[in-house]
Amino acid sequence: MINYFKEILVGFWSLLAGMAVTIRYFTKPIVTVQYPRQKLTMSPRYRGHTEFVIDEETRTHRCIACEMCNRICPSQLISLQGVKVDAKKKLPSRYIIAYQYCSLCGLCVEVCPTKALKWSDEYLLCGFTREDSEIDLLRRLQDQQYAKGWPLTPIPRPKPEEPAPAKGEEVKE
Ligand code: SF4
Ligand code: SF4
Repeated sequence: MINYFKEILVGFWSLLAGMAVTIRYFTKPIVTVQYPRQKLTMSPRYRGHTEFVIDEETRTHRCIACEMCNRICPSQLISLQGVKVDAKKKLPSRYIIAYQYCSLCGLCVEVCPTKALKWSDEYLLCGFTREDSEIDLLRRLQDQQYAKGWPLTPIPRPKPEEPAPAKGEEVKE
């Protein structure tokens, strides 16, 4: 008989303890995110994949296609091509990262002489193939510009290489 009442008391006590926790959290701000209707705000220290910094003045990237990021990357995952647009200026015509191989070491961000790269706050990354992880930074830049209603940065196209003259063929001046 004593055990019976003891069990009732223990049960009632654990009910009270549980309700105390519920009531304590009831008054605190909600931390559950209603995904996918809501998006998380990532911490400033979060490292997503790299992306171009958009210069506030020029509203475009600052990349000069110097290839330093490409050379320093330990995973050699940056596919970069530059085009000379005039005697002094070179711009990237292709900048694609194979993100699936990225170790987020940050060497490319640190080495860039024009501070053209930063970490994105992208976390919604998934795919069915490895190629789905390849990120085109120039296209991404255009998407961001489009979203802000800014003019899109044209992507310069490399000039098709002229075929080498055949042996013995006269080169016309
Ligand atoms: S963070 Fe490191 S591994 Fe990733 S692209 Fe930059 S240099 Fe390469
Ligand atoms: S180091 Fe900077 S400026 Fe040079 S190619 Fe890479 S992103 Fe562009």
